[in-house]
Amino acid sequence: MTMLAEPVGVESAWPERLRAVGLRVTPRRVALLEALDAHPHALVDELHAAAAGAVDHLTKQSVYISLNDFVVHGLVRRIEPPGSAARYETRTADNHHHLVCEGCGAIADVDCAVGAAPCLTPADDAGFVVHTADVTYLGLCSKCQSAQRMAADNSTNPTTNPHPEN
Ligand SMILES: [Zn+2]
Ligand SMILES: [Zn+2]
Ligand SMILES: [Zn+2]
Repeated sequence: MTMLAEPVGVESAWPERLRAVGLRVTPRRVALLEALDAHPHALVDELHAAAAGAVDHLTKQSVYISLNDFVVHGLVRRIEPPGSAARYETRTADNHHHLVCEGCGAIADVDCAVGAAPCLTPADDAGFVVHTADVTYLGLCSKCQSAQRMAADNSTNPTTNPHPEN
């Protein structure tokens, strides 16, 4: 067993969390989990690119395999927003939901409810044991809203719409 000196203050919790779920601690797994911490809601391609510098010969296939192991063991959550390939995040077990922009695809986390997860209690559970309420709020992010307003302003004829309030 080798003891590696870890930089003070930035000790990663991932080796311990991997061991806790019975997964072997490997540099690839730790690098992927740390990359995922830094890039929430990442696509496989983005994660591969983010971790490739830290791991030798990192193939996309091995990224898929590791992600699947993480999801099965509850270390990582997989989400599939409408119109997007699967995305991954390390924020798990809190049943948080997602705001997804239909303009640019931006994704933001939104808490289910502080101290509770009321969505996990459906009116009729049909005998299911529910673990996730996969709620997605679709809309336009603030950047896309301003872009839309600017486009609308540019296309209006000032003689018929003089914006008297300005
Ligand atoms: Zn947007
Ligand atoms: Zn999220
Ligand atoms: Zn909820």
